Amino acid sequence: MANIVIPEQLDRARKLLLMRDDAQFEVGCDSDAERTALLCAGSIHGKAAPPKIPKVFMSNNCTFNCAYCCCRCGRDKQHVYATPPRELATMAVDNAKKNGYGVFVTSAIYKNADYTQELLAESVRIMREELSYRGFIHCKIMPGADPALISATGRYADRLSVNIEVAQSAGYEKIAKQKNKTNILTPMNEISEQIKIAKYDRRQFARSQTTQLMAGSTGEDDRTIMQLSSALYRKYRLSRVYYTAFTLLHDAAGYEPEELPRTATPYWRMARLYQADRLQQLYGFSPDDVTPADAPFLDRELDPKAAWALRNISLYPVEVNRADFDTLIRVPGIGLTYARRIIEARRSCTVTHDLMRKMRIPLKRCAFFITCDGKYEGGDALDSLGLRYMLAASDRMSIGNTLAEK
Ligand code: SF4
Repeated sequence: MANIVIPEQLDRARKLLLMRDDAQFEVGCDSDAERTALLCAGSIHGKAAPPKIPKVFMSNNCTFNCAYCCCRCGRDKQHVYATPPRELATMAVDNAKKNGYGVFVTSAIYKNADYTQELLAESVRIMREELSYRGFIHCKIMPGADPALISATGRYADRLSVNIEVAQSAGYEKIAKQKNKTNILTPMNEISEQIKIAKYDRRQFARSQTTQLMAGSTGEDDRTIMQLSSALYRKYRLSRVYYTAFTLLHDAAGYEPEELPRTATPYWRMARLYQADRLQQLYGFSPDDVTPADAPFLDRELDPKAAWALRNISLYPVEVNRADFDTLIRVPGIGLTYARRIIEARRSCTVTHDLMRKMRIPLKRCAFFITCDGKYEGGDALDSLGLRYMLAASDRMSIGNTLAEK
């Protein structure tokens, strides 16, 4: 550990309050993602929300000047802080124990990327070796961080992440001038390689990597986002891409006001992106399935699976007693669990509409797309424009269930 001395500028309580503000742009865990998507869809309130993982910031005093960020160097800040590793480790462990779901240790770029990464690595080391914390740690990797520091951090963290931020590389120049494809993708590749090697060598290292992307920051369409996230999952074996809504309603020093994108990504778009993402990861959909070239934006009214089914209406109805698993899970209203239950039930009996009702499978959504033992209960909706409106209505009523479709 280098001889690093950081003066304490604020007391711990004040720092924690500031950290809460600084953390608003970071999505740290899967429950955060589900929470964001569900909240964006307006389907959960207060108590029903999944738990949030606490975040601790080493410093909010950034040397980078990303236009959208409250920690950027060009911003007038009343209070900046930089927390020494031991204090940060103690705060992180206290927060993790209080919350019970682990902790996300992160930072703005304090002095430079390697300096910050070294402090973060030391913080997580203290958490494990000196404070004997055994719970979940997600630690941020700085853009352009040295591979040796990634290795030192990953030795103690369960999950690492470096944020890709924009969907098109031209966007860095517009809103995050010091970031570029190389200083983001190089550490991402390094993490991916180190995870692979550590698994092979049975060495202690983080088991997963995630990233965060701001939707709408470059005026890109959803097809671009889906193509990018699909490539990131494939190439860097990410366990999750988190999406955040881009909002920039202020000027930022260092940027020409007229060149800054003045967009605020609508919340419903976030919910649809998370749905499309899950369809790609869990249901075998491709970017072309969820966002074909002639419909590059996700549908506001319909979830992406229903929209795909309507675009491929000639494939329906399918007979639930004969359809294979991959066909069943593409039926709106039938998810992975329901498809498994149907296939299990088929081993001992014929699946009828009544049996589907008993299995609590939402016929309200799937009846239009299936026959059960040759019988169809979708009325004449399959041939009518009304199907879109019926699906959109049921989507509005059940978007929470759809997001976590069984
Ligand atoms: S590098 Fe991170 S903390 Fe620094 S200004 Fe950019 S987004 Fe904010």
